[in-house]
Amino acid sequence: MILKLAYLGDAVLRKKAAPVTEITDEIKQLVKDMTETMLATNGCGIAAPQVHKSIALFLVQMPKFEGEEMIDLGPLKVYINPKIISYSEELQEDYHGCLSIPGLQSEGILRPARVTVQATDLNGNQFTEENVGPDAIAICHENDHLNGVLFIDRCSHHYKKDVDQVLRKIKKKFSNK
Ligand SMILES: [Zn+2]
Repeated sequence: MILKLAYLGDAVLRKKAAPVTEITDEIKQLVKDMTETMLATNGCGIAAPQVHKSIALFLVQMPKFEGEEMIDLGPLKVYINPKIISYSEELQEDYHGCLSIPGLQSEGILRPARVTVQATDLNGNQFTEENVGPDAIAICHENDHLNGVLFIDRCSHHYKKDVDQVLRKIKKKFSNK
C-alpha cells in the first residue's frame, strides 16, 4: 500500500522519533508499505516520520549504475533504532532533495564522507556497517529525519533566502493534504 507522505510544514517531521521496542507484524507491514511508497516516488531512502509514524526506522535503497545506466534498484536495507557511531573528518557535498520537500534540490551541504552506523534489521539482528559516498549521504539524510531535522536546516541562510518562495509554495500546496 502506498502511504500518505508528510510534507514540509507537517509537525511530525519535526518530532524526535521514538525507539522501536519490538519488531511486530505491524512494523513488518510498515516496512513493506514504506518500500512501495519509496519506489512509487522514485526515492532512494525514506524514514518513518515521512509517512506519519514517529518511530526510529528508515529504509535505504541505492540504485546501482553502470556508467549512466541504472542496472539495478540495489539492495533494500532496513535500519531500526539506528545510531551513527562514527563520522569521518573528511567531508563530501550532498545535493540531494527530499520526498517531503518535492521539487527542491539542495545546495551542496557538507556531510561526512564515511559513517559507521549501528542498527537492528527486520529479523531483530543488530549490525554495524560502514558506508561511504552516496550511501553515507543517504544514511545521514534519513537519520536526520529521526531527529526532526530536514536538509534545509543544514543549508546556508543565503540558500534559504533564495528558495524562500519555493518553500512557502510547498507548504501551502500540501498543507491541506
Ligand atoms: Zn528526506
